[in-house]
Amino acid sequence: MACKIGIGYDIHRLAEGRKLFLGGVEIPYIKGLLGHSDGDALLHAICDALLGAMCYGDIGELFPDTDAAYCGISSTELLKKVLLIVEGKGYIIGNVDTVVIAEQPRLEPFKDRIAQTIAATLNIERHKISVKAKTNEGLGELGKEEAIAAWASVLLEQR
Ligand code: MG
Repeated sequence: MACKIGIGYDIHRLAEGRKLFLGGVEIPYIKGLLGHSDGDALLHAICDALLGAMCYGDIGELFPDTDAAYCGISSTELLKKVLLIVEGKGYIIGNVDTVVIAEQPRLEPFKDRIAQTIAATLNIERHKISVKAKTNEGLGELGKEEAIAAWASVLLEQR
């Protein structure tokens, strides 16, 4: 079976007056992620990992932040669009592994719900999604709670 792997990364600034979305789940917090869309860095990293595995560009090329159509859009919708490309090219998702780096809020209580939500969006089984949460040990901008970053890797299998 032909397999392809992909990696994705994203970072968004935290700002007051925004809702915080990670993996399509709204997390209660005093700040949210700035962005042209809802700023969901985790879903953006997954989108880029999927696109990378297919050598199909990146999220910024597909959904430019200069396009008003994507202003305020739910990143769940962006991920669904990427999934259509994956399926259209004849791939199925083997598994998705992710890391979210957030000093605050602590994401431990939300990891399972985030993984369930991503699995539902991608229409795959829960056990194929891994969500890991780390702090940045107080170091740098991430450690100073100025931003949240995410990494994702995916395996695609040829149908
Ligand atoms: Mg982004």
